[in-house]
Amino acid sequence: MELWYTEQHTENVRFSIKVEKEIHTEQTEFQRIDVLEAKEFGKFFTLDGLMMVTEKDEFIYHDMIVHVPMATNPNIKKVLVIGAGDGGTIRELTRYKTIEKIDMVEIDERVVEVCKEYFPQTACKLDDPRVNIFFEDGLRFVRNKENEYDLIIVDSTDPFGPGEGLFTKEFYGNCYKALKEDGILVNQHESPYYDFHARAMKDAHKKIVGFFPVIRVYQAHIPTYPSGHWLFGFASKKYDPIKDLDADAWNKLGIKTKYYNTDLHVGCFALPNYVLEMLEN
Ligand code: SAM
Repeated sequence: MELWYTEQHTENVRFSIKVEKEIHTEQTEFQRIDVLEAKEFGKFFTLDGLMMVTEKDEFIYHDMIVHVPMATNPNIKKVLVIGAGDGGTIRELTRYKTIEKIDMVEIDERVVEVCKEYFPQTACKLDDPRVNIFFEDGLRFVRNKENEYDLIIVDSTDPFGPGEGLFTKEFYGNCYKALKEDGILVNQHESPYYDFHARAMKDAHKKIVGFFPVIRVYQAHIPTYPSGHWLFGFASKKYDPIKDLDADAWNKLGIKTKYYNTDLHVGCFALPNYVLEMLEN
């Protein structure tokens, strides 16, 4: 018997991975968690049937969501991370000795527990003494924060279910308020390729544009996400991710990465014309 995980990327497109083993399944208060194992991608987990993290390609997403803002402003000391229950974003952040405090707000404690058990590769730094984990809704958490963080990373699920509130004007406005005067906000920005995700991407972009003087979008190739072409949003009160990049300074830190490098940092902001048109419209 063959067992396959299949995710419907559009009504007419399906993405499948041959599964060796089903490891864990549960329905939490917020979502269904499935942990599976495959020859090609190693262990991976899905939330409500949608791909979150695979052992084989998680480095791409986590490198890009963390090192792009960190190389733009090396003085980042206080970070707020929203979502990110698998721990991959925290793992990359803790590699910077200069970071003093990381608050992580994850709505679903079970995601963290399951990842600690099955994904030590990503969850390995969740007990770093600089990390404080809050199990609550990120939308609510930022409401009463003001002038507190140098960087906010929104490492959330898609804009439906528990993640919906993290793609609203209210949330982006509160993130602006929660950031210091030179703060940076980075969020996972969906994919421009299939209509369904492109709509979510354009919608998120339109809502964020009004708040920040510097708005950029950058891209990465992530094989297990719909179409493989994924975007990140970079919104900032002061720093420009290209003009303010000090490549030599970042390279001197000696942080070894598998995807990110300072040439790619500049290149990832060069977007295809069809994406530029979507963002302009
Ligand atoms: N890399 C992943 C991706 O984009 O597919 C995201 C990974 S991480 C597992 C996303 C996390 O966001 C989930 O664990 C989910 O529980 C959490 N999340 C969703 N909505 C949230 C909210 N409103 N507040 C805090 N965390 C939330």
